[in-house]
Amino acid sequence: MMNIMMGNKKKEHPDVIVVGGGAAGMFCAALASETGLDVALLEQNEKLGKKLFITGKGRCNFTNACSPEEFRSNVVTNPKFLYSASEALCSQDVIDLFERWGLRTKVERGRRAFPASDHSSDVIAVLEKRLHAGNVKISLHTRVLKLLTAADHKDSFEAAGVEYERGGMRERLYAKHVVLATGGLSYPSTGATGDGYRFAREVGLEVTKLSPSLVPINCKEEYVKALQGLSLKNVELRVHRGKKLLFSEFGELLFTHFGISGPLVLSASAVLGRELEKGSLPAEIDLKPAVLREQLDARFVRVFSENPKKAVKNVLPEFYPAKLCALMPGLAGIADELRCCDISKLQRETLLTLTKALPLTLSSLRGYNEAVITKGGIAVREIDPRTMEAKRVKGLYTIGEVLDVDAYTGGYNLQIAWCTAAACARQLAKAYGLA
Ligand SMILES: Cc1cc2nc3c(=O)[nH]c(=O)nc-3n(C[C@H](O)[C@H](O)[C@H](O)COP(=O)(O)OP(=O)(O)OC[C@H]3O[C@@H](n4cnc5c(N)ncnc54)[C@H](O)[C@@H]3O)c2cc1C
Repeated sequence: MMNIMMGNKKKEHPDVIVVGGGAAGMFCAALASETGLDVALLEQNEKLGKKLFITGKGRCNFTNACSPEEFRSNVVTNPKFLYSASEALCSQDVIDLFERWGLRTKVERGRRAFPASDHSSDVIAVLEKRLHAGNVKISLHTRVLKLLTAADHKDSFEAAGVEYERGGMRERLYAKHVVLATGGLSYPSTGATGDGYRFAREVGLEVTKLSPSLVPINCKEEYVKALQGLSLKNVELRVHRGKKLLFSEFGELLFTHFGISGPLVLSASAVLGRELEKGSLPAEIDLKPAVLREQLDARFVRVFSENPKKAVKNVLPEFYPAKLCALMPGLAGIADELRCCDISKLQRETLLTLTKALPLTLSSLRGYNEAVITKGGIAVREIDPRTMEAKRVKGLYTIGEVLDVDAYTGGYNLQIAWCTAAACARQLAKAYGLA
């Protein structure tokens, strides 16, 4: 028998095979093993939790300390599907559970929960400890190649195990319950191959359209290059299609050599992805959203009249950071040496308009290499929301990012992984009469 079956050999097949040792897979395996189930966890990488390690810039924003309703209001796609799972394991339950497992935690601005140490490795270490305590048979360097199913009735199947490759050898492992926790396509270096989508399709499950999300956005304007590296806090980004306002939010935005990034832009990408597939979108940045146009105009008038002999460009630092000071006169048609006393009303109004609505053309989303998550996945109508079991493949469960659910940044995506994993683990225990 393969090596995962060797230590502490109880019986030939494990009760459950979990495919993917990321956030959802580890959590599910830990909880299921706690109930006494014999669990095998297969991970293709050389270690567990590679993506978890890089979350929250290495600090792991592992959940958001909000109510289940607020959690669901931050889920962009299919929040209703998560109703039962998120009520059964809310964010506070996750925090309490990790604390009980020995992780000291803290909650920061925006109710973002982190390990108190600021090290994502501590979250992984706690999960690994639980896996060892539950005697989970962890098999690394093990890439699952396909799901094995047995025909049940005419159009439905039962999970029967997996075929995998390890050290150049193809082998099979059988179990009545198989959990797909293979994640998405973003950050391929962490093991995000998209295999889970293929497995699901192969057993007849629908997979919705996949695209990168929570990702920076390419812009057409050349001027963004001049602003590269500039980070603006408390600006408003507005995006329209014709008269329809598609997105409008306040937050932090970063200019890059290709366009825009930062928390505000990642949020925008979560709702604009499908729209951008239809074509580019006009956008505008309000650089001073807290100041009314009239108030800003009055400030321009005052500063220009107090400094009549100075060049306009030399008083602009009163209004903008350095990179914008260098850019704005050109965009507003103001000559380099134009003095404040010589600025025309039209030039001042143009400056005002640019400040309240700096124009941008959003052309496309960046790719999976830069995306925090994948939008789309295994269609939720295929899955029982209380148990995460596939309706048409008995014994097959799908949890975490491989599902067609995604949320904004703030710890909500990991909360999706935890609560779907817990729903599955509860069902597994029930199936064996352990809950
Ligand atoms: C840079 C970055 C920062 C992030 N920060 C945060 C954050 O702070 N807070 C937050 O809530 N979310 C964050 N996320 C999102 C979060 O990481 C994911 O939502 C979460 O990891 C999804 O968990 P998962 O278990 O479904 O998938 P993953 O964690 O991706 O795990 C899937 C695992 O399955 C394995 N696998 C895949 N195919 C196979 C196969 N065929 N055989 C064997 N193993 C396989 C993979 O190697 C991988 O280890 C971040 C994402 C990125 C990329």
